[in-house]
Amino acid sequence: MSLLSTENISVQLSAPVVRAIKKGHPWIFDKGILKQNKAASPGDLAILYDQKRKFVGIGLFDPDSPIKIRVLHRGKPATLNTEWLKEKLSNIFALRSELINDPQTTGYRLVSGENDGMPGLVVDQYDQTLVFKLDTVAWLPHLDHLKSTFCDLIQPERIVLRVSRTVATAPSCPDHLKEGCVIYGLKLSGPVIFLENGLKFEAEPIIGQKTGFFLDQRDNRARVGQLSRGKNVLNVFSYTGGFSLYAAANAAKSVTSLDLSKPALDASLNNFELNRQIPNISKVPHILLCDDAFDALRRLAAEGKKYGVVILDPPSFAKKLTDVPGALIAYERLVKLGLKVLEKDGVLVSASCSARVPAVTFFDTVIRAAAMAKRPLQVIEKTSHAIDHPIGFPEGAYLKCIFARA
Ligand code: SAH
Repeated sequence: MSLLSTENISVQLSAPVVRAIKKGHPWIFDKGILKQNKAASPGDLAILYDQKRKFVGIGLFDPDSPIKIRVLHRGKPATLNTEWLKEKLSNIFALRSELINDPQTTGYRLVSGENDGMPGLVVDQYDQTLVFKLDTVAWLPHLDHLKSTFCDLIQPERIVLRVSRTVATAPSCPDHLKEGCVIYGLKLSGPVIFLENGLKFEAEPIIGQKTGFFLDQRDNRARVGQLSRGKNVLNVFSYTGGFSLYAAANAAKSVTSLDLSKPALDASLNNFELNRQIPNISKVPHILLCDDAFDALRRLAAEGKKYGVVILDPPSFAKKLTDVPGALIAYERLVKLGLKVLEKDGVLVSASCSARVPAVTFFDTVIRAAAMAKRPLQVIEKTSHAIDHPIGFPEGAYLKCIFARA
């Protein structure tokens, strides 16, 4: 069977795009396409050629997106059949084998879209549940094929489908493939439980943010754990309490989780409950604050509250390029507010998941904000991506985090 029981179209590309693809870039926009032999439907396979008719690669066509073609294969001609897909996925899995083989961690990103050469497709695993997240309608005609291949390789209990807004609203997205539907296996009515570094967490694959949990912060959570012993820890933008639980497990004196979302805070209580058998977790005072982070930090500062560790992990402040200046101002304000509640020589942990804000700019902003607040930072560590969130091309880098004393 061809991977893709869809039409093939031939596409001739401009020289700069050919060069970019050879270097590993996964996207082709309209202006890079010189010729196309026929009109194409979502998910058709585009066979890519240079101007001398030499084979360059194979991509998935998406007529509805500004990214017209996402490159799946480059180099020598190949048939994108089941064997090809299995081999590609096995290579991708091998890159995170240390996580997959760690019995203490059963939640990780198996496939990270463009960064793993599978553009527009994210696959997260939470114990026996897989979540497919599609960013392009181009995968829809291939969903059955993906499903059967993952079932062969992983034997999951179920597969949940999450789709981006553009996919959900596309005319080519059938009604039975709606956001959060179970496309294989057992029905799901609530959260699934998985392990991260030996701690139990619940994830909400159907209704949670992203695919149900922020797997990308695993390593930073472990670092926070190491820094939390005996400290009062404030976790700002706590979501379901990931950082909070690591702090508690590592003998923090108290943990405060602050988030605007009541359901997220409720989930953080559940996560503490799930780990009650760990004495440090069952005995630590866990304070929940349901409030806007900026308002709450101002109030805590006015009340004279101080913490030994302050974690700032906000949602993306810059969804598009024009948001960047505003995002930098928001990061600066946040750092200044965070420092007002950080005790002397305490640890500030400041993260950004805005892909539009380069790491250097973010780190400079944090360091400058602290200097302006007369709390110059002593940097402990600047971190980037975890192994299951590799960076495959410049636009794939989004997460950065700085650990510093002030
Ligand atoms: N640190 C978390 C992930 C944070 S996601 C983890 O490790 O899992 C961002 C969180 O910020 C979400 O839970 C969202 O509800 C919360 N949020 C967004 N805007 C907010 C605001 N103005 N004040 C407080 N929380 C906010």
